[in-house]
Amino acid sequence: MHILLAEDDPIIADGLVRTLRKAGHAVDHVANGRDADAALLSQPFDLLILDLGLPKMNGIEVLKRLRARKSPIPVLILTAQDGLEDRVRGLDAGADDYLTKPFALPELEARVRALTRRGTGNPTRIECGPLTYDQTERCARLDGQMVDLSARELALLEILLLRAGRLVSKEQLVDHLCGWGEEVSTNAIEVYVHRLRKKLETGGVHISTVRGLGYCLDRPDGA
Ligand code: CA
Repeated sequence: MHILLAEDDPIIADGLVRTLRKAGHAVDHVANGRDADAALLSQPFDLLILDLGLPKMNGIEVLKRLRARKSPIPVLILTAQDGLEDRVRGLDAGADDYLTKPFALPELEARVRALTRRGTGNPTRIECGPLTYDQTERCARLDGQMVDLSARELALLEILLLRAGRLVSKEQLVDHLCGWGEEVSTNAIEVYVHRLRKKLETGGVHISTVRGLGYCLDRPDGA
């Protein structure tokens, strides 16, 4: 995927560029709205990650100009914690999704994945044995049967599934859940994992505890 990142904070931009490149994306970075507008005019991108508070031309203006040109590319906006109005204006102006700063990088990765799949018409479904998770609908099914999960359990399941067969540390889980705007302790994580495990075990899906380190959603093939 070819992603354009418009972000003027050099520290945030650096972290995002590195994360996205590590995930296999080609990333172009611009630090102001005028350059973003020019880049969008000069070549096609698969996704725009757009900070709304940009110098020279603000993000809303960039977005409005993009949509006025009838460009369908998915846009993920980045807004300040208290930027409810910005978020609403951004979504009204044609953004597809938003992230509130500060956010956890795994959450950004999940949103990017969902948006780029949506953009190319690919399914947003993750499968692991009898378990399927739909990132767009945010629901999980075991052998086709909907599993009743809370928003936090779904968020936990998503990150465990995205890393199925690999260790996910408690800190990563805390980060992921905090990205959804909640304060979560590592003790609370234990409780959520316990509940999630109980709901999935009947269907033969296991979450292993790696003592002192974290958790791992076991792949059915043992890989
Ligand atoms: Ca900014």
